Amino acid sequence: MSNLIDGKAFAQNLRQTITTQTAELEKKHHIRPGLAVILVGEDPASQVYVRNKEKFAIECGFKSETFRLSTDTTQVELLALIDQLNNDATIHGILVQLPLPKHLHEEEVLNAINPLKDVDGFHPVNIGQLSIGKPYLIPCTPLGSLLLLQDKLGKDLSGKHAVIVGRSNIVGKPMMQLLLSQNCTVTIAHSRTKDVASLCREADIVVAAVGVPKLVKGDWIKKGAAVIDVGINRIEEDGKTRLVGDVDFDEAVKNAAYITPVPGGVGPMTIACLLRNTLTAMCLQNNIEDPNKL
Ligand code: NAD
Repeated sequence: MSNLIDGKAFAQNLRQTITTQTAELEKKHHIRPGLAVILVGEDPASQVYVRNKEKFAIECGFKSETFRLSTDTTQVELLALIDQLNNDATIHGILVQLPLPKHLHEEEVLNAINPLKDVDGFHPVNIGQLSIGKPYLIPCTPLGSLLLLQDKLGKDLSGKHAVIVGRSNIVGKPMMQLLLSQNCTVTIAHSRTKDVASLCREADIVVAAVGVPKLVKGDWIKKGAAVIDVGINRIEEDGKTRLVGDVDFDEAVKNAAYITPVPGGVGPMTIACLLRNTLTAMCLQNNIEDPNKL
């Protein structure tokens, strides 16, 4: 299908680019990106994510350290580890895998990370920098979504009307800031919005980040629009479990000029952008020009 956005292939290319840039920067500056991932507890999905992050970081030539902590780790112990990593010059990116066990205070933990090492881009300083149009580190999933859009529509998105469905802090809101920074006209819809369908029908770009399977119908998509489906939902169909997005793909694909499938669309971009952010973080911390500046 020619209108399909192949996030898997794009992410693979991006990882290849990061690998090349890592080797070049190491040759020139004798430094290589270091990524530390902290996993607390036994959550099976988190264990898979962390293994993948470790694998791809090593593939890119990074220093990779993974801290697997027991479920009963205390807030004080976790903060002490973050402090140690904040002060470790060989570690440029720190990622705390979420969700944390209930007894830990997530916000305090995330805010303890040095903003220049916050490769998830969730620290209030990073959110603030993004909102004033001078980003340090950008949340990975929205960044990946923007890169996919620019690959198809070109770098200049000026004047395009983007409708984002979902206003979460990790996807919807940073996506809004990113598209604004690219001179789009942005509308953000959410659970209290009166007529999401009519808003979407006006959009040149639809980004769905809701967490409701197939919420966005095919006839909500204007002919020729670009559709980015961030949703990852597990549903039962014909006695089998499968992954679907927030967009009714089979119908939307008939109208969209470009559309991401689920799986294989935005999903693979998240880890690729984490690696990209780690390289950016190394550049920021060492006054090196970032080869991937937006
Ligand atoms: P969230 O639950 O934090 O936010 C959902 C948003 O959707 C809220 O702002 C809510 O107002 C809005 N919403 C809920 N019902 C709605 C409705 N009927 N109409 C319009 N808006 C509605 O979710 P999130 O963390 O932003 O994640 C959204 C989806 O994206 C989930 O499926 C999640 O699994 C997926 N996700 C994927 C990646 C990735 O690809 N790597 C990363 C993050 C999230």
